[in-house]
Amino acid sequence: MNNSIFEDLTRLRREFHQCAESGWLEFETTIKIIAYLKKLGLDIKYGREIHGQRQGLPSAEAINSHRSSLGDLKPDFDAEEILQGYTGAIGILDTGRPGPTVAMRFDIDANDIGETAEEHRPSTEGFASKNKNMMHACGHDGHIAIGLKTAEYLVSKREELRGKLIFIFQPAEEGVRGARSIVERGALDKVDFILSGHVGFMGKENEVICGVGGFLATNKLDVYFHGVSAHAGANPELGRNALLAAANCSINLHTLTQYSGGMSRVNVGTLHAGTARNAVAAEAKLELETRGETQEINEDLLRRTYDMIEASAKMYGVTYDVTEVGSAPAYQYERDEFSTYVQELLKARGLNISEGASLGGSEDVAYMFREVMKNGGKALYLVFGTKLTALHHHPRFDFDERALENGFKSYCEVALDLLKLNK
Ligand SMILES: [Zn+2]
Ligand SMILES: [Zn+2]
Repeated sequence: MNNSIFEDLTRLRREFHQCAESGWLEFETTIKIIAYLKKLGLDIKYGREIHGQRQGLPSAEAINSHRSSLGDLKPDFDAEEILQGYTGAIGILDTGRPGPTVAMRFDIDANDIGETAEEHRPSTEGFASKNKNMMHACGHDGHIAIGLKTAEYLVSKREELRGKLIFIFQPAEEGVRGARSIVERGALDKVDFILSGHVGFMGKENEVICGVGGFLATNKLDVYFHGVSAHAGANPELGRNALLAAANCSINLHTLTQYSGGMSRVNVGTLHAGTARNAVAAEAKLELETRGETQEINEDLLRRTYDMIEASAKMYGVTYDVTEVGSAPAYQYERDEFSTYVQELLKARGLNISEGASLGGSEDVAYMFREVMKNGGKALYLVFGTKLTALHHHPRFDFDERALENGFKSYCEVALDLLKLNK
């Protein structure tokens, strides 16, 4: 590896680490990505034109407050839609020669986590997040750096290539909110191969796990119960208790069945209700999620969850509404000729390759994989192993930046080989 590539990857990763922005608020992040891709001469799409229905948006207040905290970013292109929450960008390199279309997906959002200041390299070396309660604690800053540098390298090789490359910089992966919106607008319609990956997780230092699956299908719901307030001493019978509906609903959801066909999960993560000790609670809110190892399990679980919500509301004479704030389908890795080809290729290029781990969580790139595979294309997920200072989503999370080289190399080598002339 050329030393200057490693230096560029590290510099970019640190630059994006510093402007960490949570899902749908990646304003400065998106503007910087577009500026970089523009310099490379890529065809760029962004704003409303790349989005369908966005899930789990922050409040208008949060959007405006983050926007005003950034001051004037002075982009030399129209960024108004980005600043309204249509974040992310897609860069396209069309060689003009017939050949396959290869997409690569890089997620760009940070977590709603305050970065620690103590014994933490981003703080001691001056690149900690400048945004309060927003931190790259999952490594997506590294994914942006890998994506930009991969695009730059492949542009420099365009005369040796055929077909088309699509670089997807996806917002709002945390909470599985962003991928569906991009798929709905057709970005994955004519893709033959899609690659995505993640730094860290179960990957050992310097290892590239080539073929990762076990992504659970999931739905994230916000549930609101609406009752009637009443004086708790004078006339409680006039009240309709939203708190009790929410509490019973929570307990009963956790008794839903398990499945013989695979793993399932239901979790009510938050319950907020009521306003005063001496009044019947008129409002309650639950934040919950379902997960299933297969699409069928999650769908059945979700149906039963809706039944439980409805029944709980009925029991207490309250009404309810539900907002779906995130979702992802299931994806299982299965060895096939494409994964074997990539593994052999990357081994031959000197990478330390292993195969077939399970992420054990959800990843909304599964929407993109499903779309590509539905049309006969191939998908592959990689993990770039590295030493971590703390687990993902921890305020002390950091990784060994040498993993960025393996990510860069993996994407570049596969794209170069798939798209080389006369193949
Ligand atoms: Zn994460
Ligand atoms: Zn992540």
